[in-house]
Amino acid sequence: MDRTTRNIFLASLLGLIAVTIGAVVLLGGTSGPPPGTMMVQGVVIGVDSAGLTKVRGFTLRADDGRTLGFDLAALENAVEFPPGHLVEHQGLGSKIRVWYRDAGGTLQAIRLEDAPAGADVAEPAVPPQPAGEIALIAASISAGDAISS
Ligand SMILES: [Zn+2]
Repeated sequence: MDRTTRNIFLASLLGLIAVTIGAVVLLGGTSGPPPGTMMVQGVVIGVDSAGLTKVRGFTLRADDGRTLGFDLAALENAVEFPPGHLVEHQGLGSKIRVWYRDAGGTLQAIRLEDAPAGADVAEPAVPPQPAGEIALIAASISAGDAISS
């Protein structure tokens, strides 16, 4: 092929790659859990801060009744969700979601997010699925453990 044809071919190939990457980012970037993490949803009941800006950790009352303490040293989305925003959530009593890792007994928050409105999983034994759980269901389907049921 001549140079012009090749350039058009390359341009369309690059365009396709860009669209594919964009779709992956859109689908997985906003609420996709980091690999190897667990997710819990609940209300912030305490913030451990050393001064106004240095938030070291927080305490969550999870929807399932557990009280969990998280360390923020490994937080990956502090720009999207500044740790100081936890204080606002504590004041408002509005729920957040925490993706975390258990590092030898220390729960390290990796990612923080506002819980979707209406996503109340306070009674996990009740079958009807709130809208907010669809992402979790999709995640477990893609992980392969829900296909047979
Ligand atoms: Zn918020």
